[in-house]
Amino acid sequence: MNEKIDSKVIDEIGLEQNFLGSIEAGKSLPTEELPEHPMPANIAEQLVQHYRLNEAKANQNLATFCTTQMEPEAEKLMTDALNTNAIDKSEYPKTAAMENYCVSMLAHLWGIPKSEKLYKDFIGTSTVGSSEGCMLGGLSLLLSWKHRAEKAGFDTDDLHHHLPNLVIMSGYQVVWEKFCIYWNVELRQVPIDQRHMSMDMDHVMDYVDENTIGIIGIEGITYTGAVDDIQKLDRLVSEYNKTATLPIRIHVDGAFGALFAPFVDGFEPWDFRLKNVVSINVSGHKYGMVYPGVGWIVWRNNTEDVLPKEMRFSVPYLGKTVDSIAINFSHSGAHIVGQYYNFVRFGMAGYQAIMNNVRSISLKITDELNKFEIFEVLNDGSRLPINCWKLADDANVSWTLYDLEGELAKYGWQVPAYPLPKNRQDTTISRIVVRPSMTMTILDDFLEDLKMAVHNLNKVHGDTELEYNIPSSSDSTAVSNS
Ligand SMILES: *Cc1c(COP(=O)(O)O)cnc(C)c1O
Repeated sequence: MNEKIDSKVIDEIGLEQNFLGSIEAGKSLPTEELPEHPMPANIAEQLVQHYRLNEAKANQNLATFCTTQMEPEAEKLMTDALNTNAIDKSEYPKTAAMENYCVSMLAHLWGIPKSEKLYKDFIGTSTVGSSEGCMLGGLSLLLSWKHRAEKAGFDTDDLHHHLPNLVIMSGYQVVWEKFCIYWNVELRQVPIDQRHMSMDMDHVMDYVDENTIGIIGIEGITYTGAVDDIQKLDRLVSEYNKTATLPIRIHVDGAFGALFAPFVDGFEPWDFRLKNVVSINVSGHKYGMVYPGVGWIVWRNNTEDVLPKEMRFSVPYLGKTVDSIAINFSHSGAHIVGQYYNFVRFGMAGYQAIMNNVRSISLKITDELNKFEIFEVLNDGSRLPINCWKLADDANVSWTLYDLEGELAKYGWQVPAYPLPKNRQDTTISRIVVRPSMTMTILDDFLEDLKMAVHNLNKVHGDTELEYNIPSSSDSTAVSNS
């Protein structure tokens, strides 16, 4: 049959509206070269969507930190703003204004007194994510260190004596390694050990010297959900600075914690309430609850000492000029609009209600994990809502958490297993990120499947069942059906 006859038949029976009957559906979509001819928009849309839907189910993705659900009103606002360019502040002054409002709200949420104002007292910018925020935070530490070092008479070109270094705990997110490689900075890792799952405050200052551009405090360690004791770090830094030639500063990587901690109880000051914290970054697309593509950084003081002038590029805005600081140039303003919508929509009380729910779900997961009596919970959700656990030393099972990951995947759940950072890399952990879109019902569903997964693994590996692990008879049916 040639294509002409084929398409005529399809036209006659009216299938052209249904992509399944289209000629295109009978062929593979182009993958390597630009196709020669166009195809109808509705067919292209349906085929691409059909293909895309084969990936991750948002509710069952317990691995990601990123937002998978926003309100329809937010989606509409963001869709309407897709054709704007966030970097072009004079062409899109309202988007630029909303960016400023968000920076201001974050600054005050993080402890800058309400009497202080954006640009006059502090400064910040939206970014594409925390990666860009960390890169900017690191750069401002590096360049301001350089200026201070030169003032103090160091030859900063003499890398043999003055190679700049950055101090961070070993469970850092990969962006910090990128930062150090891109800018030729030595990455000094404070290792974790049995007692220190976050930055080891007994030893951190051993890693500091006159070439240290700063210390990164992590308000939410990606791998475990633990937090660095930034309050203690601040005290240690204050003590060090009393006699140091070059005083040390702290940047807080708050990618996920900085939009969680302010809304719940139980956190010691970790932000601008601390003297030596000069900048903080956060991902808007994590607990800021915006779809992937937005982050933020705020610098405590709008001074060239904190944010050096090489990092400021003057752009026109409302008949004046303002500093453009972001690395990325053109990108849509949709995410800024989405973030601003969330802030005005939820307010303090809204975020508090949501994050408290998130916390109770995380605590419930810990309770349930403990009942198995084979898991040792390493992060229990009482602070950041990340559940992470290992197999208990006396678990006495012959399967691993990698097996559990595979077994849960059969039920559609993504719960990654991986080794702890350097120094404890022989310990494997599993991690669940509890996000606002997880409700108690979804959790109930997950827990049922977790019991089944453990049961199946015990059976396959011939391990003894603890009472808790024996599912009810209706669950057993589910096994044979699955
Ligand atoms: C997620 C994360 C990052 C990177 O953030 P993106 O928004 O994904 O670019 C950096 N640091 C920490 C601690 C993170 O958890």
